[in-house]
Amino acid sequence: MTTTPRVGQAVSALRGVRTADGEPVDLYIDDAGLITELRPASPAPASPAPAAVEPAAVEPAAVDELTLTDWLVLPSAVEPHAHLDKALSWAATRAPYGDLLSAIEAWRHYVQTMTEEDVGRRARRALGMYLAAGFTAVRSHVDLLHDTEDPLRGVRAMLDLRDDLRDVLDLQICLLASYLVPDKLIEEALDLGVDVLGGCAHLAEDPAHETTRLLDIAQRRDLPVDLHTDEQLDPTMLSIRELAREVSARGMRQVTASHCVSLGSLGTETLSEVLDEVRAAGLAVVTLPITNLYLQGWQSPSPMPRGLPAVRELIAAGITVAAGGDNLRDPFNPVGRADPFETTSLLVTAAHLDARQALHAVTDAGREVLGLPAAGVRPGEVADLVAVRADDLLDAVAGPSGSRVVLRRGRVVASTSVDQRTAVDPGPVPTRRTA
Ligand SMILES: [Zn+2]
Repeated sequence: MTTTPRVGQAVSALRGVRTADGEPVDLYIDDAGLITELRPASPAPASPAPAAVEPAAVEPAAVDELTLTDWLVLPSAVEPHAHLDKALSWAATRAPYGDLLSAIEAWRHYVQTMTEEDVGRRARRALGMYLAAGFTAVRSHVDLLHDTEDPLRGVRAMLDLRDDLRDVLDLQICLLASYLVPDKLIEEALDLGVDVLGGCAHLAEDPAHETTRLLDIAQRRDLPVDLHTDEQLDPTMLSIRELAREVSARGMRQVTASHCVSLGSLGTETLSEVLDEVRAAGLAVVTLPITNLYLQGWQSPSPMPRGLPAVRELIAAGITVAAGGDNLRDPFNPVGRADPFETTSLLVTAAHLDARQALHAVTDAGREVLGLPAAGVRPGEVADLVAVRADDLLDAVAGPSGSRVVLRRGRVVASTSVDQRTAVDPGPVPTRRTA
């Protein structure tokens, strides 16, 4: 049974939900949006209720309580690496199917005439998709359009959106500064109130010099850093080593290396050396399976190398690994559903993680990367939650139905109900308690 949630509704309890372990619980949330208590679920009326049962025998739910009997309740998801300024531009850019360089070419052509309104409109629409799917925190990179007349219009559009949606979700804006952008223009963009400094050191002629330049600026301004790092299959491209060395030497924190594709092509010995350096530096790594499985390997004879770092080895080395979607229907990736469970499913398929590891990468690890307090279903944690119609954790990680209720700090920010009928009677769903 369900009660219908309303967007904007403050919720004091979720009744009859199941945790990832399969335990049926009632979950209580205080006015500040923190989980206060989990109790074994109070008995729910049978559905449909037999006529013999007096309705009065069932305790009526308070208006601010939601009954979602047998729905799975999980921490809401984090997208640690999106490009909302590019999202949903596939059709408009007329990009060809192809590799990273052809995508960059199509994008460069498109941005010459792209307006601030266009960025804002596409990004807002994409964020609606993220929210409905269960994300309450997103870090989006935004291009500094250095070779156009108004280089900061993308940044302005994204900052406006961040401020406009402040009460709805955590949106962090990371400046994606090409190695061609002069310091002065980077500083101007950061002055607008950007949250994180990013760039692409491995594309520069001298990656070590570019890494130093970006870290200098970030350190001076005390900003977190999130660099596109080694987004290619060549195992000799390892600018992550310079990044790790510099970050260690400076004692910087909150530095993230995104993509790290070449880590997936290394021999065991080199890999373990690199991982030691990455761990010692306290770097977090963000893997982006959807875009990198699409972008990498177009020119390669089979067997096809895949665009992922050595995800299991990173996790085994004790390094924080978050996972995101990266591009959404733009020249860099024509597909994508803005759905954390698409990423988790790919992590199982392509990175060989189990369901819990995959969930961790799109929830807790993402919050760690973004520097957000823990969210989840444990007392004391923030009530940023997604309730999904799923049989169990693996069912959710594999890609659950669209029926979801999303809470941010205890308040409903999205509610989707899918009414599905087929000619095949699925029968009762077997209850499995673990993934
Ligand atoms: Zn990216």
